[in-house]
Amino acid sequence: MKDTFGRTIDYLRVSITDRCNLRCIYCMPPGGVDWTPHRNILSFEELLRLCGLMAGMGIRRIKVTGGEPLVRRGAADFIASLKKLEGIQTVTLTSNGVALDQHLDKLISAGLDGLNISLDSLREENFRRITGGDGFEKVCSFLNRIDSLPLPVKINCVPLRGINEDELANLAGLAKTSAAAVRFIELMPLGRAGSFSPVPGKEVFKLLEKEYGKLIPYPGTLGGGPAVYYSIKGFKGRIGFINALSDKFCETCNRLRLTAQGLLKPCLSSNIGLDLRGLIRGGPENSGGWELEEAVRALIARKPWGHTFSTWQDQEKTEHEAGMFSTGG
Ligand code: SAM
Ligand code: SF4
Repeated sequence: MKDTFGRTIDYLRVSITDRCNLRCIYCMPPGGVDWTPHRNILSFEELLRLCGLMAGMGIRRIKVTGGEPLVRRGAADFIASLKKLEGIQTVTLTSNGVALDQHLDKLISAGLDGLNISLDSLREENFRRITGGDGFEKVCSFLNRIDSLPLPVKINCVPLRGINEDELANLAGLAKTSAAAVRFIELMPLGRAGSFSPVPGKEVFKLLEKEYGKLIPYPGTLGGGPAVYYSIKGFKGRIGFINALSDKFCETCNRLRLTAQGLLKPCLSSNIGLDLRGLIRGGPENSGGWELEEAVRALIARKPWGHTFSTWQDQEKTEHEAGMFSTGG
């Protein structure tokens, strides 16, 4: 599948819930939100039908995300079913790691191809400040298991000015002691994130070179995303940067996003979307496949060239009111 700019669209991020067991300060309001009622969330059967349809159209990689995907019962079985879809080559998961100990064996048996863990602090009190919750020890015990796992692990960190900027070198150090890729993601001004300041990727880069020596460009890619990777002498893992704002990489964007409510979005910053839930619930079970396909193609034709997070200051706030938990990170 190509969009109007000639980009191949082969990557789908599927949010399976907008619920979460944490309240990260840049993602969710501290008091939580009104969760979408279950009836308005796509069932796993509906999700599989849509993923199968899109696999037939050229989607090859699926990332399962949320909210926190592991709070939805049956997440591992859903992943096992995605793995069986014809055309799908890899299925990965993004999780905050808090409930991972209960699910890890099942996820591995399901054939999960990669695991992304979000971790913004290595200090318990700061972890609690950022996430609003407990679970630090559980995430740490997972970190100790990384090298024994049969799948690649990436650790995602969002550098926040004045909040975890003094911890970035320590977080990068996780790639010294384990084979994980530690990635620094520039904060994007979605929802509550607009009230925090990012630490730009280039600043993190300099800070790490000062601490660990030269960051050597890594020629390979690790997965289908936009991260740029580096090696450091003596490190087992890699360091990655996703400089979504300072180094806009939209010209290589290959993805679509499906929210838990069934809205297919062509771009994270986009205020357009296709109501797939309405379409699949509106017609008989086994009809309308070609109509869905046509609708998806029409949406792809409207995929914008790039995101509209141009600078941190001049955001069109109304467009980006929803935090990442609702769109799916
Ligand atoms: N709950 C899971 C987790 O935290 O990994 C999956 C969903 S979460 C929305 C996915 C990723 O989005 C996390 O790594 C989180 O740090 C990141 N994220 C959330 N809000 C963001 C923002 N405004 N800018 C950049 N990354 C953000
Ligand atoms: Fe939950 Fe992930 Fe958002 Fe944190 S970043 S509140 S863990 S969805």
